[in-house]
Amino acid sequence: MGKYIGPKCRLCRREGEKLLLKGLRCSTYRCSFEKKSYAPGEHGNARRMKLSNYGLQLREKQKVKRIYGLYEKQFRGYFKKAASKKDVTGAILFQYLERRLDNALFKCGFATSRSQARQLVGHGFVKVNDRAVNISSYLLKQGDEISIRINKKGQKTFKDITEKTQESNIPGWLEVDKEKLKAKVMRLPERGDVDFPVNEQLIVELYSR
Ligand code: SF4
Repeated sequence: MGKYIGPKCRLCRREGEKLLLKGLRCSTYRCSFEKKSYAPGEHGNARRMKLSNYGLQLREKQKVKRIYGLYEKQFRGYFKKAASKKDVTGAILFQYLERRLDNALFKCGFATSRSQARQLVGHGFVKVNDRAVNISSYLLKQGDEISIRINKKGQKTFKDITEKTQESNIPGWLEVDKEKLKAKVMRLPERGDVDFPVNEQLIVELYSR
């Protein structure tokens, strides 16, 4: 399936919850979901239909895929890798998703959204263990050190971003120094570090059909 290039807020309305795809705007009155929380489309305002079991599984998978900003192929790839491990598939799936470099930058507060984090990586602002990394799907390991390389002009932009993002969102697996724009992976993320409600069992059931 190709890349979705339509309005991001429409995705929140489709999933029936705020997916926080547009950074700081999501926590302001300008959030579209606050005004129109019903599904998009001609009949979106009608009462939501009761979903079948398959529908519930599909929606849960779509929600997670959209939150992390992944293509179907990428998401399925993570699932396959998780399913090949001995541990609980759902927990390992989320460990892979959380370990992505773009997700970690967002969680560190170095970007206001995962899509902004992907731009930072793509534009060469990010280093891991002192080596430039321009792949946003890069999987971090315990002990990895993330740093932002910027010139004087960029410092102001990052100062603005880090001031607006909240310390309380930083998960326990990351240690962050916002002043120096550095972070360290203290341990691998766990299922409990996922900060939105999700039933991973539905995703496992969907892909196991
Ligand atoms: Fe979703 Fe609201 Fe953010 Fe738009 S502004 S992406 S509707 S949470």
